[in-house]
Amino acid sequence: MRILICQFGNETNSFALGKTTWETLSPLGWVKGETVFERFEGTATYVGGAIRAMREAGVEPVPIDLSTKGGNFGAGPTMTMECASYAMDHITEQVKERLDSIDGVFFAVHGGGSADEAEDLEAYCFQRMRQVIGDLPMMSSLDAHANMSHEMVALSHGLFGIKTVPHIDCEAAGYLAANTLIATVRGEVKPRMVLCRLPLLIPATTGFTLSGAGKEILDHTRKYREEHGLLDVTFFFGFSATDVPCSSCSVLVVADGYEPKEEAWELANYVWERRDRFAGESLSCSEALDRAEKQIRQGYVVINEASDNPGGGAPGDGTHLLREMLRRDGKGYVMGPICDPEAAGLIHRDYHVGDRITIAVGGKTDPRAGEPVLLEDALIVNLSDGQLISAAPINRGVKMNYGKSVRLRKGNVDVILVSDRFQVYDDRTFLMTGCDLSQARVLGLKSMNHFKGYFQHTADAIVTADPPGTCPIDLKLYPYQRVNRPILPLDDESQIRFVPDWGKNQEA
Ligand SMILES: [Zn+2]
Repeated sequence: MRILICQFGNETNSFALGKTTWETLSPLGWVKGETVFERFEGTATYVGGAIRAMREAGVEPVPIDLSTKGGNFGAGPTMTMECASYAMDHITEQVKERLDSIDGVFFAVHGGGSADEAEDLEAYCFQRMRQVIGDLPMMSSLDAHANMSHEMVALSHGLFGIKTVPHIDCEAAGYLAANTLIATVRGEVKPRMVLCRLPLLIPATTGFTLSGAGKEILDHTRKYREEHGLLDVTFFFGFSATDVPCSSCSVLVVADGYEPKEEAWELANYVWERRDRFAGESLSCSEALDRAEKQIRQGYVVINEASDNPGGGAPGDGTHLLREMLRRDGKGYVMGPICDPEAAGLIHRDYHVGDRITIAVGGKTDPRAGEPVLLEDALIVNLSDGQLISAAPINRGVKMNYGKSVRLRKGNVDVILVSDRFQVYDDRTFLMTGCDLSQARVLGLKSMNHFKGYFQHTADAIVTADPPGTCPIDLKLYPYQRVNRPILPLDDESQIRFVPDWGKNQEA
């Protein structure tokens, strides 16, 4: 048996400025098919999991060119149709060439993508694939932030989401999808899916599984799957910054040989009963720093500037937290990556370590994220090529590249500049510029949840700052136009009737 492996997608923040083009999505181009084993076999990624399942089952993996950001997916503004159709042209051409010799397709997608003329990007991608492969078995792993649609379900033989935020089970989802695909081709199982969407948007910052309602749902769905002998159960948090009709959280149940409607409805109600518990607290940078200072013990406290998270589609060059750290000039303050390729490139070209420089950094993309900050007479402490190998649970072992990077020091505050947008996953982003975190007291970084996979074990405490930006905790700040209404928390609960919507493919 031979199974084709492909990957494409992006998490779309409809409210981020600009467009996601092929150049911004994949600045380094495709990960060539012939390098996939070397790059991803044994890593904690979707593709790593899929390859492992195939090796164990004695199936030959057939990787083609992949589009991926650090093994996972990136995020950004709405994708241009040119980018979506170019990528699917490239993928389907390679599939066509191999069609006679493959028995199935493993297609890693995000699930929260949207393009100009393909609002539901994954439905578009699956459709394009179906035009080539017909009824050949195709299954996917998806992100927990997928906005699931009935169209996606109708076009796929099996969808398997990751269950955790921070995402620590990408490998497991890739493994399960590939394993179920192999069993289906062998005629050992007949997966049937039922999707139940909820009229609920969850802010990305409050939707996590380390504690609270998210953890309760994670524990309950795991137990429920085991007790009911289901192939899989995923609670998708959805991605609330995507302004499309299928934007919402949802429950997807996969059973062997029957439509698990009762199970999906029961689990969706379990989530619905917890709907009020995803509301979040919104702290300014000053309030967050006050709180952080009080919680420092032996090491450092992390402040995550969630509203400027590149992993949520924000520019990652926001200056609100940086400005407040500089104003306070606290000992051991470190501000993690501000994405500013212009400033980092100029310093690499014209300066050396030990030089002093006056330069404006950040604040060049979206006025909501703050003005550029002028660093006067700052010391250039370190120049880095921005390359690292991830140590975080989300993509451990994957090579990442921030591009030309710099660490500057202004007063007591260290500031890191980078040339490509990634959220922070672990300490490697700091180490790559020689920054010794054992000396740090307050660590600023841009991420909503994924950094916790590493920093929850190492930081004295974590405090979330929510200054103005592209990913606010208060969803009423977004000018939604396309989301299905009524929906919480945008509308009054009295307007909402929570009833099952099975979609056309599953009508009784
Ligand atoms: Zn995600």
